[in-house]
Amino acid sequence: MKPLKFVFPRLFQLSANKDVFIGESGKWVNGSWVWDLKWRREFFDRVSEAANELLSIISNFAPNAGCADGWTWIASPDGQYSTKSAYIKATRNETTMSIINKETLARVWDTPAPQKAIVTTWRILRNRLSTCDNLRKRNVPLGEEELKCNACIHQKETTNHFFLLCPKI
Ligand SMILES: [Zn+2]
Repeated sequence: MKPLKFVFPRLFQLSANKDVFIGESGKWVNGSWVWDLKWRREFFDRVSEAANELLSIISNFAPNAGCADGWTWIASPDGQYSTKSAYIKATRNETTMSIINKETLARVWDTPAPQKAIVTTWRILRNRLSTCDNLRKRNVPLGEEELKCNACIHQKETTNHFFLLCPKI
């Protein structure tokens, strides 16, 4: 039997009001907030259990009566979404190659080289090229022989091997 945390995403699929704000998902009754979640159909056992657990979790929460509903992007201090804040959020825990720091990486974009050379350089420094080892990390099914460098056919094809170590290249 699946744990309830795997059933919660299904609840969202069954919600009849996916795009509404919190204020539209309940009402104030005698000073207390009462949730009024709407569903597209009746539930079966596990989903019904998950819906009850969801209601018990959110029952301790009540919206602020004097505040307008709205969306907040928690990755930026002002709550407003921007591409820059999404990029920072997405790359915060990433490790770059040890030979280069983030400031140096940012300066790649200021060079007068052609745009495609800049993009390729950035991809090399971030280890984002479609080398065999990176393809395998992204679940592309490659056998052991297919992982080898296409030039020397001896070593595993990695960015470092391809640009720095391969004797054929
Ligand atoms: Zn090679």
